[in-house]
Amino acid sequence: MTGNWAIALHGGAGAIAERAYQREEEHMAALLDRGAAMLAKGMSALDVVVAMVGALEASGLHVAGKGAAPNAAGVVELDASVMDGATRAAGAVAALGGFISPVRVARGVMEKTSHVLLVGDGASAFAGEQGFERVDDPKTYYVPAESGLPGAGTIGAVALDMSGKLAAATSTGGLHGKMPGRVGDTPIIGAGCWADQRAAVSCTGLGEYFMRVNAAADVSARIAYAGQTLESAAAAVIEDVRGLGGYGGLIAVDAAGNVAAPFASQGMKRGLANAQGLREVKTFQ
Ligand code: ASP
Repeated sequence: MTGNWAIALHGGAGAIAERAYQREEEHMAALLDRGAAMLAKGMSALDVVVAMVGALEASGLHVAGKGAAPNAAGVVELDASVMDGATRAAGAVAALGGFISPVRVARGVMEKTSHVLLVGDGASAFAGEQGFERVDDPKTYYVPAESGLPGAGTIGAVALDMSGKLAAATSTGGLHGKMPGRVGDTPIIGAGCWADQRAAVSCTGLGEYFMRVNAAADVSARIAYAGQTLESAAAAVIEDVRGLGGYGGLIAVDAAGNVAAPFASQGMKRGLANAQGLREVKTFQ
């Protein structure tokens, strides 16, 4: 055990300047302290990111899990992913309907199948067989979180644990009014979620752009191939998204416990903490 840990959470890059996010920030601050305490007790990064994203999904405060908004046909289709940096094991679900915690189903895909990504009816059938908790009545269960921009209420968590391992998880309802069957970056390993031995990354924003720049994996690639710091690698990836005409942000931690959270949008709900005393919960700059 190194004594070194770090954690970052996000609640989406669709925050708008005219709105206050006090409720979201209070909830995130309490969750951040819980996650920090779990890591300081020696829990694994993987367990912590799944617990954090599970709690954000259940809060209904973001466009993911309980707060997810329906697609253009009025149906809620959820995407989620998880990646374990030490083994590069990964699991994801896309266009999943009817289950409370897509991130837990994604972890199930990672641990119980030989696949990485299950979609639609196949994902729901797997989740049902595994006994994951179902949404009773979709009409009363979902509480669409408010958002001014199309989408961007995705949630995510990244962590470094005291055994030096990294993990990332991301979950979303996708863009408001998206086409039925549309899948964004969130369940695409390398685009909306990535963890290896160098960095753990979770993205939010217009997913099509994050897919086109392979955003999450590119943070680690820049560290490996270009010798960039976590901060400059993360900033360069967001600049790439912005340069193509997209918007969004990401959270990232590296193996040394550095934390970065750049965004190119009005705001990004986020919470950052590490063993060196960083503790910040903010939505705007
Ligand atoms: N990235 C998500 C998507 O495109 C949206 C978001 O971040 O809110 O599905």
